Amino acid sequence: MVEQRERRSGRFFGRRVNCEHVPLLPSWAVAKMLDDPRKIPYLLIWKSEHDGEIKEAVRIAPHYETPGLGGLDWTGAVEIKRHDGTRNFIRTLLRPLPRNRGSVRLLICPYCNTGRRALYGWQPGGQYTSSSVTCPWQCRSCAGLRYASEGEALVFRSRWAFARLIEGQFGCRSPRPESWLPCVFTSPEEAASSGLITLR
Ligand SMILES: [Zn+2]
Repeated sequence: MVEQRERRSGRFFGRRVNCEHVPLLPSWAVAKMLDDPRKIPYLLIWKSEHDGEIKEAVRIAPHYETPGLGGLDWTGAVEIKRHDGTRNFIRTLLRPLPRNRGSVRLLICPYCNTGRRALYGWQPGGQYTSSSVTCPWQCRSCAGLRYASEGEALVFRSRWAFARLIEGQFGCRSPRPESWLPCVFTSPEEAASSGLITLR
């Protein structure tokens, strides 16, 4: 209920959080884990480029069945467990690519039931209009996140030729935020050897 209120307030009171500023869980990382013949959990760590701190860490593992949830197809489902012990179960689906180029695994957003290439575990909330709080993993639009370019597209289009000219003249580019991707590890030991975490 609190979540619902937060979400609504995000829409109505001008909160604005760009998806590039919150950790992104990519479907390729989940696919890699599910396709790993060892059937082992993976560790995903998101480190902030600004202060070097770890802002999010999850353990993803294959999930086979949940008692009492009969009727749902849990083939290819995953458990996403946060550092604080909270868990989400996310179903996945394999979507065939055109021209027999294989298939891509998508994560099914539990709120809109749509296959997505990425989920987010943060939504607008907290002290500032641009601050975010953790939430269950869901797609960008269900989490109420925006792309940094939204609302600025018109300006960029009309100034595009000029921007390109400036870029050519001075070699500078307008900064375009990129997705905040995790480091993917197949064991805590591997993460420790990278220097990201220390094992107790
Ligand atoms: Zn959704």
